[in-house]
Amino acid sequence: MSSSSAEPTTGNQITYADYFRRTPTKDGWFGKYGGIFVPPELASVMEEVRLAYETISRSHEFISELRRIRKHFQGRPTPVYHAARLSRHLGRSQIYLKREDLNHTGAHKINHCMAEGLLAKFMGKKKIIAETGAGQHGVALATAAAYFGLECDIYMGEVDVAKQAPNVARMKILGTRVIPVTFGQRTLKEAVDACLMAYMQDSVNQIYCIGSVVGPHPFPMMVRDFQRVVGIEAREQILEMTGNLPDVVTACVGGGSNAMGMFSGFLADPCEIHGVEPLGKGPNPGEHSATMTYGKEGVIHGFRCYLLQNDKGEPAEVHSVASGLDYPGVGPEHCHLLDSRRVQYKTATDEEAVEAFFMLSRMEGIIPALESSHGVAHAIRLARTSKEPLSILVNLSGRGDKDMDYVIEHYGTGERYVK
Ligand SMILES: *Cc1c(COP(=O)(O)O)cnc(C)c1O
Repeated sequence: MSSSSAEPTTGNQITYADYFRRTPTKDGWFGKYGGIFVPPELASVMEEVRLAYETISRSHEFISELRRIRKHFQGRPTPVYHAARLSRHLGRSQIYLKREDLNHTGAHKINHCMAEGLLAKFMGKKKIIAETGAGQHGVALATAAAYFGLECDIYMGEVDVAKQAPNVARMKILGTRVIPVTFGQRTLKEAVDACLMAYMQDSVNQIYCIGSVVGPHPFPMMVRDFQRVVGIEAREQILEMTGNLPDVVTACVGGGSNAMGMFSGFLADPCEIHGVEPLGKGPNPGEHSATMTYGKEGVIHGFRCYLLQNDKGEPAEVHSVASGLDYPGVGPEHCHLLDSRRVQYKTATDEEAVEAFFMLSRMEGIIPALESSHGVAHAIRLARTSKEPLSILVNLSGRGDKDMDYVIEHYGTGERYVK
């Protein structure tokens, strides 16, 4: 594939020039996906959030305050970096990394958490609430709460509380209340249920801050909009650095927020766009979390999307070496971009991600998050297999400090991966 053959695959002749004005629709539909599947009490709360978002997010005060926070508190713009040594090792393709790992707190999640916190402040809310699985979203939101002087309740399954002690400690140090959820499987799904229940009980003082481009409308749209800064910056930076657009833009997909942020900058361009899902230990049910590849349409947590389901149509058990990617659903916009064929969805296994983790560490001095390593693994595979040299831009969504203990216990220090 050369840059001349990288025609945009726009499916049914959709143009992307005014895409963001039209997508989602007023009711929150991305094609057949998204919408609002919640009890009537919560639907009216969603409507309140949508109205507030649409007014406040356009105000000069909100925009200039968010800009200031991004620059002075988060450390934006994050750079685009040419991974020259890794590229040379692999052949003639060039790999570039958007360094979202250099954000304050070490990942892209702070992009939407600071904006959600600012929105809460403008709406006059006292408390921000959310669920967390591995604790990454909880820590980012606890950071925002401390910054804005808001109270923060994080709902977390009892099993996860025990597994993720360092993140639980971080949240508590930041002044957040961690509420263990003790029913059902006591993991992420129950934490979402508990959080939504608490939200229904008091939507006057509290606002729910979701962790990805998922949930009922307006959350998938709001979180995408808050993450768009990634793609806007990256496009300018790579043009300045190389004089050209990349041939391929890629990112890992869990719920899909870092990928939507990156992809949104390039939808109207003649670049191929590849989302990378976790294939875990393999393609059998329960071994992976590759929703777009193996799921079928369903409803989870208030929205319609591709969904990994068991025989009874319930959300399936999922697995990935990267805990931030093991979600049986996926953001509705990704489902729409798959159906319209603008974005292709690929997979990387645990083993491929771990190899990429060690290669990037050893060859560039950058230890990536295991989630982000899936995007890097795909870039490595493209560089190894492409006949033509490619320019590949990867969203490096986060840093790997949080993964140290796990990696060392299961994979050692990587000698066998990099020769
Ligand atoms: C949470 C997380 C992800 C997955 O979430 P998306 O919404 O798919 O971006 C990816 N990378 C890192 C570093 C994360 O913390």
